[in-house]
Amino acid sequence: MPGAGFLLRAAIFIAAYILVDWLGYLQPALQLGITPWNPQTGVSLAYLIWQGPRGALPVALAALLSEVVVRDVPAGSIAAIATSIWIAIAYTVLAVFLRRRGPAALVPRPADAARFVGACLGATLLVGAGFIAIMLAMGALPENVALGGVARYWVGDFNGVLTLTPLLMWAPSWRKGLAALRARRREALLQLAVLGFTMWMIFVVLADQALRFFYPLFLPMIWIALRWGVVGAVVGALATQVGLAFMVQDVNAAPLFDLQFLMLTLNLTALILGATVSERQRAQAQLRERDEALARAMRFATAGEMASALTHELNQPITALVSYLRAAEILATPGEAHDARLPETLGKAASEAIRASSVLRRLRDFYSTGQATCAPLSLAELCQNVIAAFQERLRRTGVLLACDVAPELPPVAADRTQLEIVLHNLVANAIDAIVVAGSAIRRIEISAERQGDSVRLAIADSGPGVATDVAGRVFEPFVTTKPGGMGLGLAISRSLLRAQGGELDYSGADAAGSREGARFVLRLPLAGARRE
Ligand code: ADP
Repeated sequence: MPGAGFLLRAAIFIAAYILVDWLGYLQPALQLGITPWNPQTGVSLAYLIWQGPRGALPVALAALLSEVVVRDVPAGSIAAIATSIWIAIAYTVLAVFLRRRGPAALVPRPADAARFVGACLGATLLVGAGFIAIMLAMGALPENVALGGVARYWVGDFNGVLTLTPLLMWAPSWRKGLAALRARRREALLQLAVLGFTMWMIFVVLADQALRFFYPLFLPMIWIALRWGVVGAVVGALATQVGLAFMVQDVNAAPLFDLQFLMLTLNLTALILGATVSERQRAQAQLRERDEALARAMRFATAGEMASALTHELNQPITALVSYLRAAEILATPGEAHDARLPETLGKAASEAIRASSVLRRLRDFYSTGQATCAPLSLAELCQNVIAAFQERLRRTGVLLACDVAPELPPVAADRTQLEIVLHNLVANAIDAIVVAGSAIRRIEISAERQGDSVRLAIADSGPGVATDVAGRVFEPFVTTKPGGMGLGLAISRSLLRAQGGELDYSGADAAGSREGARFVLRLPLAGARRE
């Protein structure tokens, strides 16, 4: 026994079927009620994909009832029963085929869209041929119009499926679509207005030449598909279809069937284009996610390196704080006369404490959220900070680090902590490379120059350069030549810079004082320059 839920859904489906069949019942042909656009077929296919083979009976019932209510059984009741059963069987087979990859995979990729279109094309042709064959067998149709009849039936059904099925399959995500629509309301309204105006020009003003002037309709449809992907394409197709039915209904000048052939091309173009755009949007979203995941990994992978930066940054204010407090202690010795320098010393101590806590807060923000807070900052000062953190290691390894970054360089817009991490990584890599290769010339050069709206900061070393087997892949995660390396430093450095509108590249050899070596170049936007 079918459950109450199934019966309710079946009843709603049958009512919807009859309603859309009635709404789409325009310019019927061949005294058989063959209409140029069969939205009810689109509804049936969506219902069958959703319900599976058990939806076949409600579909046959809906087709039969609609034949009675909307068309008044033009070819007799036996023909009506036979065609209803035929339609239900054929579309159930199609639905079962389409369901195999799950309803969610209906048209999001161009390959899925092509599969969907191909399967529907075959099935609708078959249904049309079967329908006309039944009519011929019943003697309801002369043989000489059989081919034309199949073509007309096919166009109507195929268009109905293309305009409604993908949209109905997507319906469960309507909340997401509504949110996107609200966010870009103006654009959507403008597109709708342009589409409506173009249709009015073609189907009302130039009604008797609508076929000749149909092609401008491609422009708004392509615009919509490019901006909204596959969902936009199907909504646009439906809007065009409804508009067309509405506008051409009274005019009667343009033959709907001929227009429907053109509509078919339009809808197919929009659907495939929309699917291509959707796929590209999805790939971009995946890239963004990967960048974010990398940035997260960075926060952990660089924890060790950050510890030394942290020690350096905190060491200075804490040492100063301790000396100011000691001085204050001496100045405040009981019995001594009040020293006017005491409040000033305490004030200095307080500001050092504030400096230390702001360093901590910045680091905590970075580790907990990973968000970049770009502010104007001086590259010369930032480089000095990073170099200071490496003093001990440079001395130990005998590497000379020359910094040629002019303090007059205009400030760049960047997140101080993240940029420090990137520079830290690059300098550490350069030292590693020089040490491992045992290079005779041990030199790292940091230089910067302004280029238009940005500053290029180069870090070149006299090491052996990036090994040829990894040269093209150093920015990919987990590419490393070091025994204990994670291969994340460069990948994450690049994603951190990109998130701030900058870039990190490897420009090969030509290093400090040697023809060998590696050279990494950072591009950073100037403060005040427009972000990309
Ligand atoms: P890791 O340092 O953990 O290996 P990175 O992403 O920082 O990860 O570096 C990836 C690889 O790029 C290194 O293993 C090394 O082979 C190469 N590389 C990076 N910087 C240099 C450099 N300055 N000179 C030569 N090779 C380098």
